[in-house]
Amino acid sequence: MLPADSPADLPDFTAERTAADLDSVLKQSFGHADFRPGQREIVERSLGGEDILAIVPTGGGKSLCYQLPAILRKGVTIVVSPLIALMQDQVDSLKANGISATFLNSTLDGQESFNRIQAILRGEISLLYVAPERLLSEGFFDLLDRVREDVGIAGLAVDEAHCVSSWGHDFRPEYRQLRLVRQRYPDIPVSALTATATDRVRQDIVRQLALRSPFVHIASFRRHNLYYEVRPKEKKSTYREILARVRQGGSGIIYCMSRRQVEELAAKLVADKVSALPYHAGLNGDTRSENQTRFIRDDVQVMVATVAFGMGIDKPDVRFVIHYDLPKNIESYYQESGRAGRDGEDSECVLYYSAGDVGKVEWLIQQGSNEDEQRVARQQLRQISDYAESTECRNTVQLRYFGEDFPGNCGKCDNCCDPKPIEDWTIEAMKFLSCVARTKERFGTKHLIDVLRGSKAQNVLKRGHDKLSTYGIGKDRTADEWKMLARSLLHQGLVSETTDGFPILKLNALSWEVMKKQRSVEIAVDPKRKAIALDDDRPDSTVMGQALFQELRTLRKRIATEKSVPPYVIFADSTLRLMAQKQPTTLEAMAQISGVGAFKLDEYGDAFVGAIRSYCETNANDGVDATNLGRTQLQTWEMLQQGWDIERIARERDLKETTVLSHLAQLVEAGKVVDIAPYIESGVRSRIEAAIDRVQSQKLKPIFEALEGTVSYGEIRLVCAARSAQPQDPNEPDDLQF
Ligand code: ADP
Ligand code: ZN
Repeated sequence: MLPADSPADLPDFTAERTAADLDSVLKQSFGHADFRPGQREIVERSLGGEDILAIVPTGGGKSLCYQLPAILRKGVTIVVSPLIALMQDQVDSLKANGISATFLNSTLDGQESFNRIQAILRGEISLLYVAPERLLSEGFFDLLDRVREDVGIAGLAVDEAHCVSSWGHDFRPEYRQLRLVRQRYPDIPVSALTATATDRVRQDIVRQLALRSPFVHIASFRRHNLYYEVRPKEKKSTYREILARVRQGGSGIIYCMSRRQVEELAAKLVADKVSALPYHAGLNGDTRSENQTRFIRDDVQVMVATVAFGMGIDKPDVRFVIHYDLPKNIESYYQESGRAGRDGEDSECVLYYSAGDVGKVEWLIQQGSNEDEQRVARQQLRQISDYAESTECRNTVQLRYFGEDFPGNCGKCDNCCDPKPIEDWTIEAMKFLSCVARTKERFGTKHLIDVLRGSKAQNVLKRGHDKLSTYGIGKDRTADEWKMLARSLLHQGLVSETTDGFPILKLNALSWEVMKKQRSVEIAVDPKRKAIALDDDRPDSTVMGQALFQELRTLRKRIATEKSVPPYVIFADSTLRLMAQKQPTTLEAMAQISGVGAFKLDEYGDAFVGAIRSYCETNANDGVDATNLGRTQLQTWEMLQQGWDIERIARERDLKETTVLSHLAQLVEAGKVVDIAPYIESGVRSRIEAAIDRVQSQKLKPIFEALEGTVSYGEIRLVCAARSAQPQDPNEPDDLQF
C-alpha cells in the first residue's frame, strides 16, 4: 500500500497503468514472470474501480487478483475469508514476499488485536483478513469508519464467495451481512472470488453481495497439471502400487471411506517406513490439528484421511491424491482430487475402483430412510461409477458435469494416454441379453449371472431357471467378467435398468438389435495389472538436478522451521526445481528465477546461492557421476519402486543378485535411493560396517577378505555406497527415500 501521505511521485494506482508496470510489480512483489490467463484483466479492472466476480478453479491463482491491486492502491483492502486456519498461512505467505498484511479473528487476545488495529490506523497494513463473524461484532463498523478516515479503504475482497449462497455446498449465514459493507461504503469496489461453478450460485453471489455490473471472469475448470487415472482395486496389488507411488516422493493425501480403513492403512504405511499420519473425525481436535500442521509443514509425507480432511487446508504442493475408496459424487471427486497441484506443478490423482465398492455404497444408501435422498445418492453413485468405468477422456467426463464441453484427447489421463484394449464380446452379449429375455426382464445382474453360470442357488432352482435354455451357457466366463459386460452394456445403452429401488434389467430396442445380430458389441477390457510406469520422460541429466533439488528442500525446511512457517511459504517447489536446473550462483542470476521476488531475494538469496555454489563445487570434484545411470539401473529402480525385492528382480530379469545389488549401489550414489535397510539384513550390514572400520578402507577386496568371503561383493558395494552418501537431515521427511 502506498502511505496516505505519499509524495507526488507515487501516484494513486487507480490511474491508468501500462502493462509493463504491472509486469514489474508482479515480478517484484510476487516473483512471477507472467500473469495467468484472466489475472491481468481482473487486476486492471479492479484497479479501475470495477466490481469483480471471478470463478476460478482451485489453484488457479485467485488470491493475486485482489492482492496485487491491494498493494497498488491507497488504503487498506479488507479480505473476508471463512477459514481462520487459512488466514495465518495467507498472511505468512504475503509477509514472506514483504507485503504487509495482518488478520483479526477470535484467536487473538485483546492486547494483540489492539496492537494490530493500531498498525492498521498508522497506515502500515495493505491487507486485512477478517472472518465474516467479525463484521457482525460490536464496534467493527466504527473501526472501519476510523480506518476509512485515517488511511482509506481500498476495496473489499470476498474469498470463497459461494459461502453467501444457500445453493452452494458451504453456506455461511454470516456472509449475508457483507451486504452491509456495500451499503455503508457504496463507493468501495467489491471483488468476489470462488471455485464453485454452478450458475445458480453465481447469480446468488451477485445478488447477495449487491455487485454492480461486475466484470465476470469464468476460467475453465480444467486442471492442466493434474493427471487423472482410475485403477482396478485389488486386495494385494493396490497396496503395493500405493506404496510404490508414495516412495516416489512428494506430499500426498490418501482418502478412505471409513475411520477404520484410515487407521489400518496409515499403520501399514508406517510399518513400511513411510511417514504417514491418520486424520478422521474420530480423533480429538488437538490431534487432528496437530496432524494437519505436521502435514502442512512437511514433517510428515502422507495424510491418510476421511473426507473430513482437506476443507481447511491450502497446501499448494500436494503431489498426489489417491482415493482408496469411491468418492460420493463427481463434484466431491473434483474438489478432493483437486487438492493436488495447487501450485501448478504436475501431480497425480488416482482413483481405485472396484465393482464391490459400488455394492457397498448401494447398501449404505438403502439404509437411509428418506426416499428423495436415496434417489439423489443413487444417481450420484451411478455418475461416479460411470466415470470410473468410462473409456472416455476423464477430463471430458468431469468437465461435462460442470457444463463444460471439453473435446477430449487431454494427454493427461489414463484413457487418453493408455486406452484400454477393445474386444468383441458380441456372442457373450447375446447370451446375456437372451438370459434377460428368458427370465422375463424381472431380475438384476446377480441373478442373471447365476443363471448363466449354472448356479445351484435356491433362487435359481425354486424359479425353475435351471430349466432355461440359457442356464449354464456362460460357464466359460467368470462372474466378474459377466459383471464387467453387464456394466458396459448399461453404459453403452444396450440394455436399460429400472430405477425404482431394485436395479432390474430391461431390454430396449438396441438390445434386440444385438440379439438379432444386427449390432456388434465391443467392450473395453481391463488389461492385466500393469506396472506403474516410471516417470522417465525426463532426461537422465535431471538425476543430478534431483539431488540438488533435495538439498534445496532441506535448506528450505530448515529456514521454515526456524521461522515457524510452512516450507512453501519460503519458496514453491517449482521455484526450487528451477534453481536446481539453472543452478544460479550469483544473486543476479537468482533474481531471474521465477518465484524469486525482490523481498525473497533479500531474505533468502544468500542462503540458496550459497547452497548451490557449494553443491556445484563438491560435485565437480568427487568423481561420482550421478548422471551415469543407464537403462538397466533405471529398470532396477523402477522395480524397486514397485516393492520388488532383490531376489525377485534378479529372477525376473535373469541377472545375478550381485549385479542387482550393484545397480542399487549406483542408485544410492546417484541419490535416488537413500535408505538401504529394506535390501540388506541388518546383521550383514553391521558386519560389513565393522569390517570397513577395521580395514580402514572402502576398497572392496580387503573387506571381502576380512569377512572371509561370507558376504557378497554386491552387499559390500551397497554398504560402502550408503556410507559415502550424504547423511540425511533427521528433520527431513521420509519422502526422500527414493
Ligand atoms: P487459489 O486461491 O485460486 O486456489 P492461489 O491464489 O492460492 O490459488 O494460487 C495458487 C498457486 O499459484 C500459488 O502457489 C501462487 O503462488 C501461484 N500463482 C498465482 N498466480 C501465479 C502466476 N501469475 N504465475 C505463477 N504462479 C502463480
Ligand atoms: Zn483425457
